[in-house]
Amino acid sequence: MRALFLWLIYLMSIDAKAIECSFTSQADLGKEVLSMINAESMTCLKKDVHITFDDGPSQSVTPEILKELNLRGIKATFFVTTTNLDQKKSQNWEKNRALVQQTLDTGHLIANHGYDHEAYDLRFNGKVFQNGFGKDEREKQIATSTDLLNWSTGGKFKNQTPLLFRFPYGRGAMPSERELSFMAENGKSFLGKSYSERIREYRYTSDPLMSIAGKGYSHLGWNHDSGDSSFAIETPDRETLKKYIFKNIKGLCSSPKVTKVALFHDIKKMNISAIPVIADLGKCLGLNFITAQNMAKDSQVMDSAVLLEKNKLLVESFKYTQKRTETSLSGLSAGKCEKLPTIFKEEKQTFCFSEQYQKRYEQCSGGDSICYEGKWYSRMDPYVIENCNLDNEAYYKEQNSH
Ligand SMILES: [Zn+2]
Repeated sequence: MRALFLWLIYLMSIDAKAIECSFTSQADLGKEVLSMINAESMTCLKKDVHITFDDGPSQSVTPEILKELNLRGIKATFFVTTTNLDQKKSQNWEKNRALVQQTLDTGHLIANHGYDHEAYDLRFNGKVFQNGFGKDEREKQIATSTDLLNWSTGGKFKNQTPLLFRFPYGRGAMPSERELSFMAENGKSFLGKSYSERIREYRYTSDPLMSIAGKGYSHLGWNHDSGDSSFAIETPDRETLKKYIFKNIKGLCSSPKVTKVALFHDIKKMNISAIPVIADLGKCLGLNFITAQNMAKDSQVMDSAVLLEKNKLLVESFKYTQKRTETSLSGLSAGKCEKLPTIFKEEKQTFCFSEQYQKRYEQCSGGDSICYEGKWYSRMDPYVIENCNLDNEAYYKEQNSH
């Protein structure tokens, strides 16, 4: 009898451990994801998160996202693709400019994602290595993009702190190992042997980075990818949406306990429903959504090179050049490098399962989303393009014929 009593107490205590959260909007969706969290007894490391959105503004998505963020007092960074603000390129240019102004006026940071989403440095497109912009084109793109952002905000853009840039595809700040190897084979010399050493060296000598730093920009990458770019469909079904939200909460909550800079796209309709739930659940579980200003002061973000601060970048670049000069003077051959090991070479026995199609996909197969090492990626994700032998030309033709 006593054992039964204790068992009942135990059951009640388990039930009492279930987390309860309140939702400002999307309450039904929020409760459904919360029950997934409770079912898995998922825990959350208390940490800071800064949310960022790329590729907008979009008249159908950005205003909704802004409304939800403002309701909750969360301040995000919006990396604008500035063809959206150009009279010659976008029918919505006037409305888009007004939206950028409104975003800034409601306390968010407006940042530069370049003019036309072309790469700023060498990029492997799945078939061939394509050069990024030459010096003149690069400088022109940065200047045009900056002007469009300044015009849209009555000059307020340039007075923001921090002033941020994010290269399309990250190229200019985040080359892949394959691209670094190609550079090494084609005359660029590195002192270091490992990928992490070489990527650091690359950053100290990256012309695109020096160009934006010279114009007063710091570069912000990310250490949490929402995965929203892998969804080709406008509005996924409810189960897929719930899994997307759950996966993001899990990613933001998980170890290591470093400040997260989260990448979303404000051109993806699904985020209109997902962001409010991620915000409310995240807060409830212990995530602290911080401003761009606080993120920029965070040493974890800077030390992990997620944020490449302009002054630090210029100083480190100068020191590196000095070191290189000393090294070559000491007789070491800086021009010869060993070939980099290919870490992505080995075949992995992993697969991806599509809930939507109830089908299993092997490595590098799928539709718009490609399975790679057990995870879904967009077919156009640079990571996939570099590592899967995809017939992208056929894919483009098919897309363009629609
Ligand atoms: Zn982008």
